[in-house]
Amino acid sequence: MFLLHPKVPSRHCPDARSRELVEKTVGFFEAKGKTRLRKDDLDRAWYADFLDFSRREKLLATFLTPAPLGGEGTRWDTWRNCALNEVLGFYGLPYWYTWQVTILGLGPIWMSGNGDARRRAARLLEAGGIFGFGLSEKEHGADIYSTDMELVPAGEGRYLARGDKYYIGNGNEAALLSVFGKMAGTGEYVFFLVDPKHPKFELVKNVVASQSYVAEFVLHDYPVNEADILSRGQAAWDAALNTVNVGKYNLGWASIGICTHALYEAVRHAANRRLYGMAVTDFAHVRRLFTDGYARLVAMKLFALRASDYFRSASREDRRYLLFNPVMKMKVTTEGEKVIDHLWDVIAAKGFEKDTYFEMAARDIRALPKLEGTVHVNIALIVKFMKNYLFAPAPFPPVPRRDDEADDTFLWDQGPASGLSKIRFHDPAPVFAAWNQPNVALFREQIAALKEFLVRATPSEEQAKDVDFLLVVGELFTLVVYAQLVLESAALSAAQGIDGDTVDQIFDVLVRDFSRHALDLHAKPAATPTQVELSLKMIRRPAFDAGRADRVWRTVHALKDAYEMNP
Ligand SMILES: Cc1cc2nc3c(=O)[nH]c(=O)nc-3n(C[C@H](O)[C@H](O)[C@H](O)COP(=O)(O)OP(=O)(O)OC[C@H]3O[C@@H](n4cnc5c(N)ncnc54)[C@H](O)[C@@H]3O)c2cc1C
Repeated sequence: MFLLHPKVPSRHCPDARSRELVEKTVGFFEAKGKTRLRKDDLDRAWYADFLDFSRREKLLATFLTPAPLGGEGTRWDTWRNCALNEVLGFYGLPYWYTWQVTILGLGPIWMSGNGDARRRAARLLEAGGIFGFGLSEKEHGADIYSTDMELVPAGEGRYLARGDKYYIGNGNEAALLSVFGKMAGTGEYVFFLVDPKHPKFELVKNVVASQSYVAEFVLHDYPVNEADILSRGQAAWDAALNTVNVGKYNLGWASIGICTHALYEAVRHAANRRLYGMAVTDFAHVRRLFTDGYARLVAMKLFALRASDYFRSASREDRRYLLFNPVMKMKVTTEGEKVIDHLWDVIAAKGFEKDTYFEMAARDIRALPKLEGTVHVNIALIVKFMKNYLFAPAPFPPVPRRDDEADDTFLWDQGPASGLSKIRFHDPAPVFAAWNQPNVALFREQIAALKEFLVRATPSEEQAKDVDFLLVVGELFTLVVYAQLVLESAALSAAQGIDGDTVDQIFDVLVRDFSRHALDLHAKPAATPTQVELSLKMIRRPAFDAGRADRVWRTVHALKDAYEMNP
């Protein structure tokens, strides 16, 4: 089975301890049951029970400590972290979020040259601590250049931290927070450690209404010494961006977990609800919504698995992950919103009921596109790669499925966060040519039309500064990257049931999405007459095959009895 079924684990785990911990995490949530899960959500109860479980089992310590700093079985292994990401999203965003911000908090620490700070963090993690990442500020949003948290020098190797931070997850309970600021006077960037239990740390409030604690805090001349400094200058700036590179990859998995649970609930409800003497799933439009939702979800997971392969295989010479991770963030999470929209159109009023998982999913799925930089910020990043990707491919050795037991050390040694437009990619053409499904063929034509658009009607410098225009070109390009990795991953997932029918169904959706964005481009006020004409050449009608649609629908319908969370 390709989608997560928590009670029938099918994901390859490289070692017994990893498998045991993932299964125990599932066991924790199933023992808790849906009634308690929902009550804690509605009461906005802090998830102390989950953190106790994690402490007891050394869950976060085992999964999030690089091998040299930890005990038996610890390593940072993106493959197994994906499995836990998916399970935590499956049971609820708050549980995933506390793990996610711990990851973000640990990033600047594991990247730091300060060995004592690394060992201190490893000890606290081993003792069950959680962590947090203090980057955002209330006034500055995505504009981190304007950070105004300051370290004021106070004599030999001592400083006083002054300023406030906003939207900082785990800010209430973290063992340590990695905080980003500037040196007073010089403006040099700096990352330093903060202990929320210190009297000079003021926890102002939780700025969100949730089980998660997303803190506003103020540092009132909080004392910092050299031992607390993680990095300075360019290294601190790179640590901020390189940590977000790690974190943004995870976001897609939360969406995948959420959508998978919501799908089980929605199909079960619709298949068992009878209207006018028939099941709701007998309506043609309901089948289409479910089939589209399923195809989108399978594509999300295929992409995520393949992006992990590139992330784990990255090096200073192979930085392709710097494109694939923002696509994971921006595309997979917005696809998650579409999946929930499709399912909600089917289950209608049921999606508001307070004892369903769905009600949480419908709310929480919206968060993922907005964390670690918005969708816009990530598309603006993605377009920097477009020229080399489409027009200047380079040879690379093939990247295999990376489900091996390895410590992903490169994540903490990514190097300077600059030079993006110089990054090269392997040629996408052979990947698309390897599939003869009719909708893949149509998609190939759409890629050719996009390339023609870019060559014959290259966006001008003025258009490149028009973010509204740029975003729609970025959406079209993103679809090409997304579709390519979906195909690469499908070729590696035949044993999990990914067949030609599934691929063609996914591309039925992708062809329609491409056409929709092309129409959007056609309507942009800034488009020139040639661009208007060429954008229409990208539109295709997908190839319909009743047999294939029916076979895929039957796979979706069979999920109606597949899984239900313990009450
Ligand atoms: C629940 C939650 C938890 C969070 N947890 C943390 C955390 O633990 N640590 C942390 O540091 N931060 C955290 N954040 C902050 C999060 O990373 C920010 O929300 C995000 O960086 C965007 O900032 P903003 O929402 O203030 O949007 P703004 O920066 O105010 O953006 C406003 C608009 O401008 C657009 N925009 C901005 N810059 C660009 C650009 N360069 N190109 C194109 N468009 C642009 C945006 O897309 C958006 O539409 C959290 C946020 C939330 C909601």
